[in-house]
Formats: sequence, structure tokens, C-alpha cells
Amino acid sequence: MSKNEIPYKIYLNENEMPKFWYNLRADMKNKPAPLLNPGTHQPMTAEELSGVFCEDLVKQELDNDTREYPVPQEILDFYKMYRPSPLVRAYCLERKLNTPAKIYYKFEGNNTSGSHKLNSAIAQAYYAKKQGLKGVTTETGAGQWGTALSMACAYFELDCKVFMVKVSYEQKPFRREVMRVYGASVTPSPSMTTQVGRKILAEHPGTTGSLGCAISEAVEVAVGTPGYRYVLGSVLNQVLLHQSVIGMETKIAMDKYGIKPDVIIGCAGGGSNLGGLIAPFMGEKLRGEADYRFIAVEPASCPSLTRGVYAYDFCDTGMVCPLAKMYTLGSDFIPAPNHAGGLRYHGMSPILSQLYDDKMMEAVSVPQTRVFEAAETFARTEGILPAPESSHAICAAIDEAMKCRETGEEKTILFGLTGTGYFDLVAYEKFHDGKMDDYIPTDEELKAFRARLPKV
Ligand SMILES: *Cc1c(COP(=O)(O)O)cnc(C)c1O
Repeated sequence: MSKNEIPYKIYLNENEMPKFWYNLRADMKNKPAPLLNPGTHQPMTAEELSGVFCEDLVKQELDNDTREYPVPQEILDFYKMYRPSPLVRAYCLERKLNTPAKIYYKFEGNNTSGSHKLNSAIAQAYYAKKQGLKGVTTETGAGQWGTALSMACAYFELDCKVFMVKVSYEQKPFRREVMRVYGASVTPSPSMTTQVGRKILAEHPGTTGSLGCAISEAVEVAVGTPGYRYVLGSVLNQVLLHQSVIGMETKIAMDKYGIKPDVIIGCAGGGSNLGGLIAPFMGEKLRGEADYRFIAVEPASCPSLTRGVYAYDFCDTGMVCPLAKMYTLGSDFIPAPNHAGGLRYHGMSPILSQLYDDKMMEAVSVPQTRVFEAAETFARTEGILPAPESSHAICAAIDEAMKCRETGEEKTILFGLTGTGYFDLVAYEKFHDGKMDDYIPTDEELKAFRARLPKV
């Protein structure tokens, strides 16, 4: 198909939107390893998980076999407020790079929360409401997940208690305020309101917190408050299931115009956007129907796939959550303060970890200043101000496109543009003022954290 026949933006109409989520696990020969009880090291049962998570979500979490989950009508209705998201041909970026590559991006930043996280937030809130719960608790780092969940809870009139990593709470007051607009209560973590928070504060007075601490606090409150459950915005199998809407839409749109990507790229924090984007394509690869290259992009300061180990580890600092087998840096790894808050988790989705271990997927890590250079090239050509997290994918996509310039190959590159950077202007300011550093952990540092992995 010639260039002119493909529009700048491919929008699906409402009837073309996917009606089901795709469960990639159904097509995996090597299934992701089960979550283990941290005390007994036995696989977590549905009953055990139901004390923490909503019932329907527990079923989805444990279901390695059902290929398709119909999206409930209430969720489809909500999706229609901000989906389908556009699939954009980056003609202007291609021209700037002078590359024969064809670059596409799927843009998930067109909703108030500013990222793809709303796709799973609305699903999790729906199942909590369906179960008759009063509310949910969660953690948020940079604030995108907390914002998305606040929006979803407001829609279903659920209470929403967010533990926000203290450093972000202080540095991102605007994010906090958006959550409050949607009715959430926001507590800086670690806090004195939980046992685990008090313990962490006693041991590390003055700590600015981490995602792992905030998870421990949110779980403690969920388990201890009648009518509440805990919800998580990434890493879990159920979250990748909900995020498959990104890949399903992309696949439908590309098929409509006869486009087949050669390389599919996404940034990877806990793995939810990448897992969602690649899902239907990876399914084809697993079934032997097509071949694609998949590239996970992570910050060099928090390199779970590229420099971590594949092992059972705690999901949180307080060690109250189940153990997950994943590529991890160790649950007490605290990355150098980089500016891609959403990519600072110590572990990676068990699904993606298994696929990476099976060599179905590649991973690269990129230093921070290169990410911001790529972000600016993108902003200046395509117009959108990208989130620092998303800019990791932009950086790798530009690298691939530049390789095509060398070789003359007309590859089709698809990447996930997960969100906008309006709340990240302090990071852009540091970059402009030459105050951004590129700290990369040494092998010795990583080894020290690994030594504290649980023995399973
Ligand atoms: C949270 C977030 C990410 C990373 O999370 P994943 O679960 O790895 O997708 C990436 N981009 C944005 C904009 C985010 O908010």
C-alpha cells in the first residue's frame, strides 16, 4: 500500500473496537510461574488471594487457559469515552530522521490520567463494585496509576485510598490534586498510619519512600479494613490482560490497512503497557503464525530485565505480598532518583519474564539523558509532549530507524507512546539546565541486593 493511502492517524470506529481482552498465557507453552505464599512457599490459592484482591480479578490472575475474556458492557461504555486511541504514522519524525523505516505509535495519553493505566483501573474498579465492596487501596509512584484509579473509582462511586511515594507526594503536588478532584484520599508513604509504615520509618528515618513501601502499606490497609481490597496497576497477569486492549486495537487498525510491523517496542516498568501492546502479535508468534521482534526498553538506572536475575522475589519492601518469579533486582533495590518514575519498579511482569527467558523477546536499557534527547526530537517533530517513561520507547524506536538508514531497509517499527509529560516538567527543566545525571548501578551494588533474595 502506498504511503499516501495510510492516514496520519488511524482511528477505529466504535463498532471496530475489540470486544474481548486476549489472555496471552493461553498460548504460552511455558506458563508464567505461580505466585507463592511467602510463608509456606506453596502456590497461592484463590482463597488466599481473595483476602487481598477482588474475586473476579483473582480468577483472571490464576487463569492460564481461557484465551478470550469478553469485556463487560460497563467497561466498554467507559472505554468509549477515551478509546479507541489513535495509531499514528510518524511521518514527520521519519522525515526528520531521514530514514526509510516506517514508524507508527499507539498513543495512550489522550485521557485526563494521561496514560494507558486507565485501561486496567476501570476494569479493576468495575470488579470491586460488582463484588459490592466499599473501596480499594493502592500505591502510586509518579502518580499516573493513582490518578487513573481515582478516575475509575469516581465513575463507579467507590472509595479510593492512595499511598503515594513521599518524594512524589512532595514534588508532584499537581498530581495529588488531580486525585483529590476525583475524590481519592492521598497519604504520603511511608506513613504513621500503618504498622509497616511505622516500622520502615523507625528503621529509615527521613526516607523519601519507594513503591515497595507504598505497596506494603496499601495491602495492610486493604486486608485490615472490612469491604476493601487492594489493586495494583502493573506487573500482575490480570493487568496485562486488561492492557491487551492496546494491542488488540493496534492489530485491528493495522490489519485494516494491511500493515505488518517488523519490530514492536515498548518501555517496561512492571511490563503492563508492553505486555498489552505485544499480546496479539506475541500470540501469533507463539502459535507459529507470524514472526516479529519485540523489544522491552528500560532505564539503565533500573535494569531488571537486562541486568536482573530470574528468581522468586518479594513484590514489596515490607514482604507482605506473595512471591513472584520474575526478572528482579531485589525487593529492597532503590534505584537512583531518575525521572521516569513509572519505570522504577525492581521487578518485571512474570509473563514478560518468562517470555524473555524463553528468548521470545529482547530487552535494552538506555541512559536518562539519551531518553530526553529522544523525547525532544519527538516533541519537536510529532508535536506531542511525551512522558519520560514513554520516551524510552521513542529512544529505542529512533535507534532502530537509524539502523534502517544505514542499511536502507524499509522496516515497519511500532512503538507504544504510553503517556504525556505535562507533570514531568521538573525533569525536562533538569535536562535543559544540564543537571540531569545518568547514574548506572555498579555490578557490586546489584550483587548486594541480589544476595537478599528469598531462598525458594
Ligand atoms: C506506569 C507507566 C509506565 C510503566 O508501566 P508498565 O506497567 O511497565 O507499562 C509507562 N509509561 C507511563 C506513561 C506510565 O504511567
